[in-house]
Order: sequence, then C-alpha cells, then structure tokens
Amino acid sequence: MRDSPRCRYISTHGGVIRCRHPVHAQAFCRWHYRALLQGEITEEGYLSDSLSDQVRRREINYFGVHPEAVLVGPGSEPVPGGGGDPEADGPG
Ligand SMILES: [Zn+2]
Repeated sequence: MRDSPRCRYISTHGGVIRCRHPVHAQAFCRWHYRALLQGEITEEGYLSDSLSDQVRRREINYFGVHPEAVLVGPGSEPVPGGGGDPEADGPG
C-alpha cells in the first residue's frame, strides 16, 4: 500500500495535530508551503513567533486541521436553503 506523504505542519491548537493535506514542496502542503515562504511558519512546521496577525495565525493553525473553523468569523454567511418546512409535518 502506498501512503501519500502529508504536510508536516503541526498545529498548536488543542495539542499536536498534523495538517491533513498532501505534500506540495519541502514536506509542506501547497498552502503551508506558501506560508513558509512568507516567513509565517518555521521549517520545523510550527507557527512563527514573529507573526503578529492573530487572524492569520488562526488561519494557519486551523488550516488542514479544523477547516470549518477558518470559515467562522466576519464574512461568513448563513447556509442557504434548509429543506425543513415546519408545516410539512403530516399526521402520523
Ligand atoms: Zn499543510
């Protein structure tokens, strides 16, 4: 069996959790590799201490670990549709 390598970014959120995305370059996924190039994470796979942008820190920390958490915040919209009609409840 082949096991495709995973990104080695290590989130500090709630313990040690590895990013789940496939490796793109230098053992990082495409997204975290970009963060590496921008000096936002270290080559060891940790969030850089010099990154002061809290929103960005959270993004990087959650990416690939808690994808849904990144979507929470300003700009997030309610999920359209519902499919639940409260009066559609038949006799029963
Ligand atoms: Zn990653």
